[in-house]
Amino acid sequence: MSTQDPGFKAALEEARQGSQEGGVPIGSALVAADGKILGQGHNMRIQKGSATLHAEISTFENAGRLPASAYRGATVYTTLSPCDMCTGACVMYKVKRVVIGENRTFVGGEEYLKSRGIEVIVLDNDECHSLMQKFIKEKPEDWYEDIGEDE
Ligand SMILES: [Zn+2]
Repeated sequence: MSTQDPGFKAALEEARQGSQEGGVPIGSALVAADGKILGQGHNMRIQKGSATLHAEISTFENAGRLPASAYRGATVYTTLSPCDMCTGACVMYKVKRVVIGENRTFVGGEEYLKSRGIEVIVLDNDECHSLMQKFIKEKPEDWYEDIGEDE
């Protein structure tokens, strides 16, 4: 697993798109065991006024309804460590692996993922980190809202 993976590149491209839209710059992609990208998306909370459309949830949503077998052996790429909600979705669908762009900004449910037998890989990518740092500097209130915290 590396930053050269098509799934990671798709997730990073989604994060860039989210940034261009003025949204929370987090992207994600769901890649099947055979390498096919099943879905990708970015955080849409600001764009859609949504309570739940984090990047990973957008990705599951964009992939559409799938049989449980589609998630077996699958990898979720996300540019930032997944929050409790998105961690729960990964556990519920029993994906094999979660590849995280960076976790310097925020550490989500990584330990819980591991405890449920899901492999966790952190790439510590600078662009993922700098997108978040820029956003938090410009719109701190929107970042804290995104993770369910008061400022
Ligand atoms: Zn989330």
